[in-house]
Amino acid sequence: DKISTDVVVIGSGGAGLSAAIEAKNAGLEVIVVEKMAFVGGNTLRATGGLNAAGTSVQEALGIEDSAEVHYADTMKGGYDKNDPELVKAFTDNAADAIEWLLSLGGDFNDVGKLAGSTNNRSHRPSGGAPVGPEVVKTLKTATEQLGIQIMTETTAIEIVAENNVVSGIVAEDKDGKVINIEAKAVILATGGFGANATMLVEWDSALEGFGTTNQPGATGDGIAMATAIGAALVDMEEIQTHPTAVPSNGYMITEAVRGNGAILINRDGKRFVNELATRDVVSAAMLAQEGQTGFLFFDQSVTDSLKAIQDYIYQGIVIDGETIDELAGKLEIDTEALVATVQAYNGFVTSGVDGEFGRNDMPRSLKVSKFYAIEVGPAVHHTMGGIKINNKAEVINVEGSPIVGLFAAGEVTGGVHGGNRLGGNALADIVVFGRIAGKSATEFLNN
Ligand code: ADP
Repeated sequence: DKISTDVVVIGSGGAGLSAAIEAKNAGLEVIVVEKMAFVGGNTLRATGGLNAAGTSVQEALGIEDSAEVHYADTMKGGYDKNDPELVKAFTDNAADAIEWLLSLGGDFNDVGKLAGSTNNRSHRPSGGAPVGPEVVKTLKTATEQLGIQIMTETTAIEIVAENNVVSGIVAEDKDGKVINIEAKAVILATGGFGANATMLVEWDSALEGFGTTNQPGATGDGIAMATAIGAALVDMEEIQTHPTAVPSNGYMITEAVRGNGAILINRDGKRFVNELATRDVVSAAMLAQEGQTGFLFFDQSVTDSLKAIQDYIYQGIVIDGETIDELAGKLEIDTEALVATVQAYNGFVTSGVDGEFGRNDMPRSLKVSKFYAIEVGPAVHHTMGGIKINNKAEVINVEGSPIVGLFAAGEVTGGVHGGNRLGGNALADIVVFGRIAGKSATEFLNN
């Protein structure tokens, strides 16, 4: 099969849909290909919010903030490994991205604060609705209204290019039938490689055995396709992990569960690490335990202190018992050992000194029934590195020049987040650079 269009967008997450909408709005013919059966990618799974400074929403709430402070926070959060040109484009355009999403009918009228941000700038739906689905719903509705064709279960396998000039892609439908899509511009928005275990270990051998919080389509296809035609990569070894994800579904358990008093125990019913040590230390300790996972253990007082735990209970990922004995039985671990561990820990809470692992913050003892446990293990969350782009979302080749007609946006690119992505910056990044990619493709086609 052969199809012709102005712009083909690969991937239907936040970046791809934003790009498609901008290009279509500018009068171009746009086709989106998506390898999964559903639209939305990892963007659907995003929690937190969209970081932007100087929005009408902040103003209405009396929050003072500026792109300059957002820039400084992002560089500091990324250990200054970020590409300053990209961070500037990101933080300068983030507020406009929020206004744009609002104009498309999205609800981002609540503003919270996430770690690493000086001011409240994380935009999210009012009433506590999850933010990733709201971004996807807003963008998907707009693509439907604009009549943009999204071909699901269609996997891009190659970008066609000759002499540094792109002319389309080769894709495959679910039956393996080849589809050639001729296009004057290609926008890569395939997301990261957080679900590609082989590729993760290739870039960071310490990630052997890690799970993932990513949707299964996050396999780094865009990175392979782009490098095959000469694209440069940046920061590939910068991979963000989370120490406490649920092994069965990759759901992340907030660090606040430990912060509010939970301990980590292994299958011998023993603690094995300072629960508040850095992410890498806690992750490594967990992988050294039988089953490469541990259990967050806490009591009713911790549960009452944190709203998120109610959600975990509703989702059915929390095991409970009226007594420690009952819980230990359900976890199939030694009751006496667990009782002794909890007794010892409660003693540390009273004395203020963790004689075993040197944990310095022990906010409450664990003695109020019910008792609870969640099985957790370390997982890959976000891949900061990826394809090198400039502030027009043009893909840069290994010689340092743009590949003509090729643009990229979102988690498939590297440089915006440097060595560490701040919570709330990814969702804003994908919308900002998705829009830039759509506009740059338009400009390119009109010249
Ligand atoms: P971002 O946050 O950067 O928008 P997402 O992970 O949300 O990234 O979306 C990327 C989308 O790209 C996912 O829906 C994923 O399934 C899709 N995708 C990945 N590789 C391919 C491919 N080879 N062909 C088509 N779609 C792809």
